Amino acid sequence: MKTTVASIQGSRQRLFINGEFVAPKNGTYIASYDPTTGHPWYEFADAEADDVGAAVAAARAAFCNPSWRRMTQTDRGALVRRLAELVGANADILAEIETRDNGKLLKESRAQMRSMPDSYHYFAGMADKLQGDTIPINRLDTLNLNLREPLGVVGMITPWNSPLMLLTGTLAPCLAIGNTVVIKPSEHASASTLALAELIHEAGFPAGVVNVVTGTGKSAGEALTRHPGVSKYVFTGSTATGRRIAGNAAQNLVPCSMELGGKSPHVVFGDVEIEHAVNGVVSGVFAAAGQTCVAGSRCFVEASIYDRFIDALVERTRRIQVGLPTIDDTDIGPLALADQLKKVEGYVASGLRDGARIAVGGRRLEREGLARGGWYFEPTVMVEAQNDMGFMRDEIFGPVVGVMPFCDEAEMIALANDSTYGLASGIWTKDIDRALRFANQIEAGTVWVNTYRSASFMSANGGFKESGYGRRGGFEVMHEFSRLKNVIIDYSGAMQDPFVIRLK
Ligand code: NAD
Repeated sequence: MKTTVASIQGSRQRLFINGEFVAPKNGTYIASYDPTTGHPWYEFADAEADDVGAAVAAARAAFCNPSWRRMTQTDRGALVRRLAELVGANADILAEIETRDNGKLLKESRAQMRSMPDSYHYFAGMADKLQGDTIPINRLDTLNLNLREPLGVVGMITPWNSPLMLLTGTLAPCLAIGNTVVIKPSEHASASTLALAELIHEAGFPAGVVNVVTGTGKSAGEALTRHPGVSKYVFTGSTATGRRIAGNAAQNLVPCSMELGGKSPHVVFGDVEIEHAVNGVVSGVFAAAGQTCVAGSRCFVEASIYDRFIDALVERTRRIQVGLPTIDDTDIGPLALADQLKKVEGYVASGLRDGARIAVGGRRLEREGLARGGWYFEPTVMVEAQNDMGFMRDEIFGPVVGVMPFCDEAEMIALANDSTYGLASGIWTKDIDRALRFANQIEAGTVWVNTYRSASFMSANGGFKESGYGRRGGFEVMHEFSRLKNVIIDYSGAMQDPFVIRLK
């Protein structure tokens, strides 16, 4: 791969359409900012409807082109494996690019990129396993088949927090199954997706199979989600944008997979080692500076240990190292966007107005060693929280946790489920019956017991309620990215009189 942080620095990044990097038709570019300094570090193309139209046309042509359509399943799987190898060989460079763009810890970006080849290999294995059924029909000399086939062009719209990792769980199976793709990465972190496009080209995918259009949601995103040539959308982002995209897609009766926001409950019972549960809660909400969709941002603690738990949580939070994302000792880096910083400050202020109290943190961080203008915020624990306060209901997407006590299981389940979201949940207890009752009653797509944020591409992930629908990962995605066709074959060789109707 030729692309590096140094080659991106100060450059104009173009669109990737039909196997080539091309300038946007309007010739316009937008600055992307470095979260550690708040300064621009490169420009990306501001695609509009014309560019999006060209990308969808290229993807449609590639879908019908025999070089892709008639490629054997084995060869398609081999191509995805080749991409896996290239991603593995360039993992550290991809990590540096993404961290520079979104401020995620370099060690975390590295871990994500180094694990991505496993995920590509897993989905590559699906290329020759997508199969239909032969089903009964109650007629003699007749075969009734359900065939599985690719959908066509899949439009993928991604957020800035983990662009490449989130893309892998849908891009890899889409390609293995034989779809073609148009990706619209976030305007706040496009660089790593464009670098991946270079690897896709190098792997030898036919032109047009994967296209990348950068730009804003308002322009490139809207154009993509209104385009009649797309057969499915996979959206990962906020619930508000998801609602808008689902509305656009509905005009063309196109299905969507929606991976949206969350306000996940993290429950701690009195029978646990407090230190373990504190570690779980801290990593569950503060990892990636709280900019994870599954952040356990509502913490419910059994009243019997509440005071001891808060003391331990505050003490552990004080020891969190906030700093440059490229330094190994850093635990959390900056927020990715200036607006995100304002949003976090706003929610802390609204929590205080509603009667919650800051136990630790609560302020923007500017200190020696951090570049002035970087978007850093202290990890923050808010106590005396109530589940109906605004900061406990809305997704903050920052390092803020609200904590409140509960008395019994019934109250805890009612509080945990009292949210419009239903993405993830966690429980700390040594009582397996209680953990299973929680798993049974909680309205969330993921349940963690005595752990948090552990995930696998081998299992299906996704949300309930306003956290979305559709699943990423696991074998289920083969059905998400393919469609059924029913084929009935009469092999009697004797077509019946068409006007004789056989009644029972
Ligand atoms: P966002 O909704 O602002 O933007 C996501 C993407 O949608 C971007 O590429 C953006 O350009 C595009 N977009 C915006 N408006 C659009 C429109 N009108 N039409 C088409 N596209 C449009 O989200 P974000 O701030 O980038 O990401 C943070 C959000 O993503 C959080 O809510 C987080 O919970 C969610 N998220 C969810 C998951 C999950 O798997 N459930 C994973 C990561 C992030």
